[in-house]
Amino acid sequence: MPHLQWITEKVRLPTSKGSYLLWIELKQTALSPPKYKENFDTGIFLYAGSAKGPGGLKARCGRHLTQDKSLKWHVDWLTRAATDIYVLPFADQTECQIMRALKTIPGGHIPFEKFGSSDCNTCEAHLVMCPEGYDRQLLERHVLKRFNRK
Ligand SMILES: [Zn+2]
Repeated sequence: MPHLQWITEKVRLPTSKGSYLLWIELKQTALSPPKYKENFDTGIFLYAGSAKGPGGLKARCGRHLTQDKSLKWHVDWLTRAATDIYVLPFADQTECQIMRALKTIPGGHIPFEKFGSSDCNTCEAHLVMCPEGYDRQLLERHVLKRFNRK
């Protein structure tokens, strides 16, 4: 299995269009979008999205990596409060395919219904919360390896 390239700096993001996975770490609880009653709990969140607009992944995920921004998408509430954010771009999978794989994480759960998936008819949400102690090596081993088998 090839080593996966997690990106933490905007300059390293590709300008191509595609989908992506965000690994988001929250060390303090944070406000969630107004439509939800509960706050974000501390822990690790995984978000699946796609970048189809001008500037591709660089523009969209560069925005995710910036904390000082207006609150436009659901995920902005999370990324502005995040301690660490890692981006993993995908060329061949849709955000919904990524999401289906994330749902197989043992002990993972969906913290907010329809979070990030208002326009999606198939997913309960595009956000998963990881079990305590989860790390990126486990994610690569359990979930992401299937995407590299071609
Ligand atoms: Zn979806």
